[in-house]
Amino acid sequence: MIEKLLIANRGEIALRILRACREMGIKSVAVHSTADANAMHVRLADESVCIGPPAARDSYLSTTAILSAASITGADAIHPGYGFLSENADFAQMVEEHGIAFVGPSPDHIRLMGDKIAAKQAAKDSGIPVVPGSDGEIMDADDAKAWAEKIGFPVIIKASAGGGGRGMKVAKNASELTSAFEMAGQEAEAAFGNGAVYMERYLDRPRHIEVQVMADSEGNVVHLGERDCSLQRRHQKILEESPSPALNGSERDEIGTVVAEAVKKLGYRSAGTVEFLYENGEFFFIEMNTRLQVEHPVTEAVTGIDLVREMIRVADGRPLSFKQEDIKLSGHAIECRINAEDPFTFVPSPGKVNEYHAPGGLGVRVDSGLYSGYKVPSHYDSMIAKLIVHGNTRAECLMRLRRSLTEFVIDGIKTTVPLHQELILNEDFINGAYDIHWLEEYLEKKTRD
Ligand code: ADP
Repeated sequence: MIEKLLIANRGEIALRILRACREMGIKSVAVHSTADANAMHVRLADESVCIGPPAARDSYLSTTAILSAASITGADAIHPGYGFLSENADFAQMVEEHGIAFVGPSPDHIRLMGDKIAAKQAAKDSGIPVVPGSDGEIMDADDAKAWAEKIGFPVIIKASAGGGGRGMKVAKNASELTSAFEMAGQEAEAAFGNGAVYMERYLDRPRHIEVQVMADSEGNVVHLGERDCSLQRRHQKILEESPSPALNGSERDEIGTVVAEAVKKLGYRSAGTVEFLYENGEFFFIEMNTRLQVEHPVTEAVTGIDLVREMIRVADGRPLSFKQEDIKLSGHAIECRINAEDPFTFVPSPGKVNEYHAPGGLGVRVDSGLYSGYKVPSHYDSMIAKLIVHGNTRAECLMRLRRSLTEFVIDGIKTTVPLHQELILNEDFINGAYDIHWLEEYLEKKTRD
């Protein structure tokens, strides 16, 4: 039985995990850097341990500091959240070797999906449709040329160790190919210490649609509908919704079933997300994330299921608490990521929050560690809050979102609230008519005007 869980993360996700623990009667241990001594997750946890200086590599990424904190406090489980060590297979393995439950999939599955070339092959072998592309790694410029001719321009070169939109370069024609290949490799080497790249057809106007799955150690796998994450800037998600305005019921059931069957074949456990690009009625696998996602609350809103609680139960060796037929998608949910950034130039804006007031009311959820007087440190990701709104229909959800965004007060720093206020009034967005390029084109047009 898990009795005490260490949260190897910070910010809103640390709070999110802490809340699940408290509801389950599990004691929580927060870890924090010196920059986060006054953070909300530290204030609310049952115990806390300072694990190092502000730089993440010396604190939130330090496996030894985190394992020592677990051992000092007697924690019997670790939840890694997202980012930081969440997709580090070696860390998951070390945790297990210390006799501590890792709240996530097995190290082998993390390793497999962390290598995007191998992941794509595994997906293909399990019956999931993939983006047409190279058979594995591109070795040199000649290899790149041969594959590009076979696939057809435009193509995208992607890092096998990729994540966060880094190490990706598009080549529209043969003259752009060599430099795209070299730049992607260099960027990948610098960001991930692994320069291996592969090639895919660059889809013209796709949507990003991902399927949430939950699996236990007994081979039960359930899919929980999809999220549409097409509103992106620099390949990073800004707003997510469930269900996708682009899918009909039979497409939803079909892709959910394909994914659940594949995940079962893989012997996967815990929460996972299979990401696709969707264009002209076709799905193309791009990657699988072996962790809790930032946007998981929209799925929670439409299914009524607490995904973090379920992850903890599975890590404790218990079976899923629901079956596929229990999953009923109800209404519509949208999440806005609120970042401490200028809303239109996206320049980071850390600093002191003088006044904080979060919206509330029916169907409104705010996941955030902010409070009046809190100082947003400059050392970490700029996301400071998530606003998740649920309605019986998409129209009701939008109406509620408009109302909630006008109530939100985060005074003292710049945030992306004004961007969201603007986006949800846009006709294309209201009609659900957007793809992965829409937001960047919208922002370009705005700067031109
Ligand atoms: P990362 O792991 O870095 O997030 P992904 O493979 O998940 O990388 O891709 C992130 C985003 O990049 C996608 O949501 C999409 O916007 C864009 N992208 C990736 N592959 C392609 C492709 N083959 N064609 C067009 N866009 C792509």
